[in-house]
Amino acid sequence: MPTQTHLPTKQELVGLRREFHAFPEPGWREYWTTVRIVEELERLGVDQIHVGDEALDSDKRLGVPDEQELSAWYERAAARTDRTDILEQIAGGHTGAVAVVERGDGPTVGLRVDIDALPIPESSDKGHKPATEGFRSGNEGYMHACGHDAHVTLGLGTLQAVIESDFSGTFKVFFQPSEELLGGGKAMASGPHIDDVDYLIGAHVGLDHPTGTVVGGLDEALAFARFDVTFTGESAHAGLAPNQGRNAVHALVDATSNIYGIPRHREGATRVNVGELRSDNAANVVASEATATVEVRGESDELMEYMRDSVHRHVDAAAAAHDCEADISLIGESLREDSDEALVDLVAETAKDVDGVSSVRRRDRLGASEDATFLMRAVKENGGKATYIGIGGSNPTGHHTPTFDIDEDCLPIGVTLLSNATLDLLS
Ligand SMILES: [Zn+2]
Ligand SMILES: [Zn+2]
Repeated sequence: MPTQTHLPTKQELVGLRREFHAFPEPGWREYWTTVRIVEELERLGVDQIHVGDEALDSDKRLGVPDEQELSAWYERAAARTDRTDILEQIAGGHTGAVAVVERGDGPTVGLRVDIDALPIPESSDKGHKPATEGFRSGNEGYMHACGHDAHVTLGLGTLQAVIESDFSGTFKVFFQPSEELLGGGKAMASGPHIDDVDYLIGAHVGLDHPTGTVVGGLDEALAFARFDVTFTGESAHAGLAPNQGRNAVHALVDATSNIYGIPRHREGATRVNVGELRSDNAANVVASEATATVEVRGESDELMEYMRDSVHRHVDAAAAAHDCEADISLIGESLREDSDEALVDLVAETAKDVDGVSSVRRRDRLGASEDATFLMRAVKENGGKATYIGIGGSNPTGHHTPTFDIDEDCLPIGVTLLSNATLDLLS
């Protein structure tokens, strides 16, 4: 293994993590986050820094918010930075970045980290460390409640450790936007930087594992799809001429009820949920429009597709029954992809020699959905290998809750593990 000459200090890593924690931005709105990532990449002397259209396939982005929402977050970011040169390149929801470091012949290793936050108001409780130590969310109503602030830090810290080491080959870090919406993975996997990746490592902190635990491969992510569904009918007076209306609410309610009645599949687990049912309408008006968001999951891509096709069928049938039109648009998607044995081995072996690691598990179930699977699939289809690893962080409460936090001791552990594994592959 090449000698590793420089690891960032815990203090440096904690400083970065707290800075990102204090300014959480949700999917496709990570403007300031992307600017700060690029600034750090410049400081580290990264050879190539790609943002905007050059980082991912913009046409494959899913669930991009409307222009008004995007510009509100753009302005908020613009008030915090003078780097309008970077902001202009990522305007319109083209957030995220890819860093590339080339050092002669050798394999290409990729590290994928996600960078987005959630629409969750952060706790102000005394027991919540970000509140008591002054780095609670400055974007009220939004929060890094899944640890992606730590992921950005791991990406930058690992780059710093690798870039200052002796190696031969190419190292790429994918700072992926919009994981929580499952909207960014497909776009990044379809972008111009994945095809030559021989080994890909994705990582998640926490997941109820104590600090010191490393999982070599998190498997069994549920394949996932989310849609916006819109029924369009025709309004009419509910008392005077109900027969002249075409009732979009009735179509939506029928579809919802039937979607929950989709039979379970004999070959494995499936999930379905209908949320955000909406129709801005008065009680004396036959509703002309009704919308909902629907999500389906499956233990395999095929099981998810079974659920997705069933949802489509029920939506179309309800529209036909009520003489309405239905529109279904995909706004989030992920796959099922498991970790490769060779990389699980490498991570597990590497972890044994990392200071602070007290428990190494080869594999565990992820259970949730995760769009790093798109990048894993792309690498595997090109003959490469991929794994999605867990780095314990003693989260005091569950992911996506207002008191979520991570134990910052997991940052130096994660950086040492990821940089040692990377340098092993690049030797
Ligand atoms: Zn999450
Ligand atoms: Zn997450």
